[in-house]
Amino acid sequence: MNLILLGPPGAGKGTQGALLAARLDIPKLATGDLLREAVRRGTPLGLSAKRYMDSGELVPDDVILGLVAEVLGSPEAERGVIFDGFPRTLPQAEGLDGIFAESGRRLDGVLVMEVPDDVIVRRISGRRTCADCGRPYNVFSEPPTVAGVCDVCGGKLVARVDDDEATVRRRLQVFAEETAPLIGYYRAAGVLVQSISGEGAVEEVQHALATALAA
Ligand code: AMP
Repeated sequence: MNLILLGPPGAGKGTQGALLAARLDIPKLATGDLLREAVRRGTPLGLSAKRYMDSGELVPDDVILGLVAEVLGSPEAERGVIFDGFPRTLPQAEGLDGIFAESGRRLDGVLVMEVPDDVIVRRISGRRTCADCGRPYNVFSEPPTVAGVCDVCGGKLVARVDDDEATVRRRLQVFAEETAPLIGYYRAAGVLVQSISGEGAVEEVQHALATALAA
């Protein structure tokens, strides 16, 4: 099964995508996570992507499509993936169509997570990520057992560089301009697009996503 999780930054795509991936037993493909890992390792890709990421701008489409094609070619992705944070532009969506057509796959649906901008800005100020394993937390809604320490691996929890308010506002603007139009793109292509509210407790949102999937 191939699914796209679409929504603004801070909608909860990372958290919900991980739960959904476990439920469906397929991997989550988060381009943001792959890019942050490349930055952390200091690879050429990471070095070129960092300045876009830090300022809330999008990394160029050809870089992203190369990354996605590579992951989709791996055996783990054979049974399908949940895309988190990809595609983010029309050329990326068209590129994904091309990759799918070449490999005989199909897109099963798009799940849109809706959260108002002011809720996002507040939510993101509480967001932390484990520097070692990448597990997401939120100091308000999903705190770790011990403050500042990852429950899973004991790593240090850090705030993302691009989670400051000005950069978040820019990322929301980029979402509205570049990514939100993909909803119309997929509807026009006859893909099943379902919107759910991303507000509320993690379990409630997961339930709404699972119900949308079953429908
Ligand atoms: P995310 O973790 O999905 O919020 O992504 C963090 C940052 O990585 C974004 O603000 C972009 O700079 C970059 N990024 C992640 N995914 C993409 C994508 N599909 N296209 C372009 N840039 C991306």
